[in-house]
Amino acid sequence: MWVETGGPEVKARYGLFIWLLATALWLGCRAAPGSPERDYDITPSDMRARIFFLASDRLRGRDTPSQGLDIAAGYIRSEFQRVGLEPPRGGYVQRYPLVMSEMGAGWSLTLRRGSRRAVLRQHSDFWGLPWAAGTVEGRLRFVGAEPPAATVAAGEPAVWVAYLRPDVMPRQWLGAAAAAGAVGLILVAPAELEPYLREWCWDDEVVYEMGDVEASLPGALASEDAMAAALERLGLETQPAGGPPLHGETDARAQLSADLRVEVLAAPNVLGILPGRDAELGEQYVLLSAHMDGLGVGLPVDGDSIYNGADDNASGTAAILEMAEAAAALGNRPRRSLAFLAVSGEEKGLLGSTAFVTQPPIPLERIVANINIDMIGRNWEDTIAVIGKPYSTLGLLVDSVAAAHPELGMTVVGDLWPGGGFFFRSDQFSFARKGIPALFFFNGVHEDYHRPSDEAQKVKFRKAARITRLVFELALAIANADEAPDWDPQARVQIVGGDR
Ligand SMILES: [Zn+2]
Repeated sequence: MWVETGGPEVKARYGLFIWLLATALWLGCRAAPGSPERDYDITPSDMRARIFFLASDRLRGRDTPSQGLDIAAGYIRSEFQRVGLEPPRGGYVQRYPLVMSEMGAGWSLTLRRGSRRAVLRQHSDFWGLPWAAGTVEGRLRFVGAEPPAATVAAGEPAVWVAYLRPDVMPRQWLGAAAAAGAVGLILVAPAELEPYLREWCWDDEVVYEMGDVEASLPGALASEDAMAAALERLGLETQPAGGPPLHGETDARAQLSADLRVEVLAAPNVLGILPGRDAELGEQYVLLSAHMDGLGVGLPVDGDSIYNGADDNASGTAAILEMAEAAAALGNRPRRSLAFLAVSGEEKGLLGSTAFVTQPPIPLERIVANINIDMIGRNWEDTIAVIGKPYSTLGLLVDSVAAAHPELGMTVVGDLWPGGGFFFRSDQFSFARKGIPALFFFNGVHEDYHRPSDEAQKVKFRKAARITRLVFELALAIANADEAPDWDPQARVQIVGGDR
């Protein structure tokens, strides 16, 4: 409301004038010192517009795969194209195969030896694994607790029985069994792993995985006690408590029926490139990433069933779009190339980023760093956790970039939740384990995390914009540095191992 005359109002107007003048001077100073690199525009209202669209009910939570996700991917693609990013060979959008398995209730597992028979019951003695459908029959072969490195000779059709350890992924066994020509796989779960594994192969559940359907076979997860009881019934030796797992051929046979509907679908990742200006360093990339997918539509909470994923992770996706726009508008492009990536399938187990490193649209060995953004719009106004700082020289670099930009008013802190394993829980892990030094920008979880109430109006847009500017300055610093970032040697062994 505008007031025409009167004493105090005049003062107020004068005050407003002073404020406008100060703001203009500040803006002027900021743009003045002749650095065209700093001539970009990442504002709270830009972030707001993008987050409101991505987290709108119309996109229905951007489940992987879904129409809402495809709309998000199409939007990101057209924005990359509009601002002038280049597509990698094959185009902006990479679609990767996604195996959908719908678990049925009609599984059966029977072991036979001569006239003796042991029937295991689904949901109490064993659980189906979401791998391949059909009925298989073969000789029971114990293969211990360590997946064989070399392919074992096929011989007659065998159903493998393997003992699961916490450090071996069920998929490693699947790969080994399929390569050796086994027809089925029974994984015996120690009691302490059972609760986790059951969740993963529950009845009526639809499970999405990456994977090669051709190299798959029916699999079941059996409880240790149920398996021991069945073997005893057949008159077979059982694993001694605390002793070495059984190993070797038996004269028993197993029949496994997998009641599963398997369908191969596809999901998108979107990648756009801003080529670097340096002839040599321009061949290298700084990879900026965020997952665009969410949890989709699920169990209603307070009458709302759309899990909008505004903070998680429309906020990070908006940051990627804003940085892409800002980078493309720079008067002076950075020396190294910038790669902007929106992945899907994060919420289903880092599927999109795993697909990216499995069939990389740009050579992985030329990616010098990954900065991943997942949730930057909630919690503390002026502080951002950057996870992975001790693992590489990127940790010191982000501190110095934050110190060089006091106008952003963001305090960088390290991992505030050391027991949370967050470095391994978003897409930076897919890149880091391939040898790419990485950082993860993350504001922590909150009461709306993974709930329908993670909605756009709750996001702190001013905060999200300031973090985006900080990440952008960091990306430019990496892209313009003489040296590429490097690992802390010990962290490299821990995270990358011998992988690259
Ligand atoms: Zn997330």
